[in-house]
Amino acid sequence: MVAGPRHSFTRKPNLADVKAAGHDMLRLVNRRILLSILSDRQPISRAEIAKISGLNKATISTITGELLKDSCIIEEGSGRTTPIGGKPPTPLRLNSKRFGLFGVDIRADETILALSDFNNRIVSRVSFETGSVATSFLSKVGKEIRKLQLKHDSFIEFPGIGVSLPGLVDNQSGRFLLSVVLPWRDVPVVNLLEKATNLPVIIDNSARCSALAEIWHGKAQYAHVRNLLYVGVSTGLACGVVIDGGLYRGGNNTAGQFGHIPIDLNGPECRCGQRGCWDLYASDKATLKRYAVLRGPGGKRVSTMRKLVELVEGGDAAATEAVRETARYLGIGITGLINGLDPEIVVIGGEITKVWGVIERIVVEETKRNLLAPRSHHVPIRPSAFEVRPSLKGALTLIQNSLLSVPHMG
Ligand SMILES: [Zn+2]
Repeated sequence: MVAGPRHSFTRKPNLADVKAAGHDMLRLVNRRILLSILSDRQPISRAEIAKISGLNKATISTITGELLKDSCIIEEGSGRTTPIGGKPPTPLRLNSKRFGLFGVDIRADETILALSDFNNRIVSRVSFETGSVATSFLSKVGKEIRKLQLKHDSFIEFPGIGVSLPGLVDNQSGRFLLSVVLPWRDVPVVNLLEKATNLPVIIDNSARCSALAEIWHGKAQYAHVRNLLYVGVSTGLACGVVIDGGLYRGGNNTAGQFGHIPIDLNGPECRCGQRGCWDLYASDKATLKRYAVLRGPGGKRVSTMRKLVELVEGGDAAATEAVRETARYLGIGITGLINGLDPEIVVIGGEITKVWGVIERIVVEETKRNLLAPRSHHVPIRPSAFEVRPSLKGALTLIQNSLLSVPHMG
């Protein structure tokens, strides 16, 4: 098929790394599309898959035959009866035991290791204190992973370990570069963990992992979103950008550091060397600092955002005002990003979203005021969808993404 001029493709073929769509590539893409349809709609019949995918029934039958042989999918019971009679369709499901996925969410204070099945159900979860020496700490994580492998030996295969890290990450070289919250510097995380476990390791930073989790596992009302902005509010601010269903990593793999866009050139000096960065006004650190001034001599001292959020929940006026002010600054920064990126949705993550009722209206009002596009283009702003930490879900998604994502061709 030759696409006409009205076709919306804009991607220039990558001649430095050509992957033309040969038979093997097409087979891989179709296989992954089928697995993704199954993951989203199961239980589902071959006829329904054909309808959704646009592939003919013979091709569906060949691919599902291969997937059954590989134990990736299973046939469920004898199928339901159809109102018009005839042979009932046999529903297909993913085989949850086909893959056991490891996710490691490393934060400054605590690390969580989780194992999920192929249906994204977490079957085991361990947490421990994050060590300040990277080598010995990662060796400990490796040992825990091996223990879980032995304990859960009913999985057919462990395809890899996804790791979420709190700072700058070069996912190509597999190194954790630096962080303001963790004393690790230039750590070859992939190399160390692969040696310790003999499993493939994929790393990324926590905001980008969270963005990936939102695009793969977001709530039903935005299940079909292709362009998403994730704003992670913690000690600092970090963002993850999803463009047309894929994570944007940038030329040097460090994209997403929007926290260091100055919003006041006369503002205080930032650790990055500039003045008045967004991070200095909308991060948890900024909120805590603001509260310390607002609370006055009689107010309760707090050192963590979790405690500050508890005060807001208890109706503390100074804590509430500190959070409301942060919401205003979040709105100001997000407006600029909406104007520049035009996402279909903005998702905010972090402790501050626990008091969504206090901040939502302020963030939304602020963005409405300054958007360039007409009001009809209003972009929804939502708190993160997950009960578990978004970055843990994201670490697991790094591996799921490696099994189900479709490659760029050409
Ligand atoms: Zn800065």
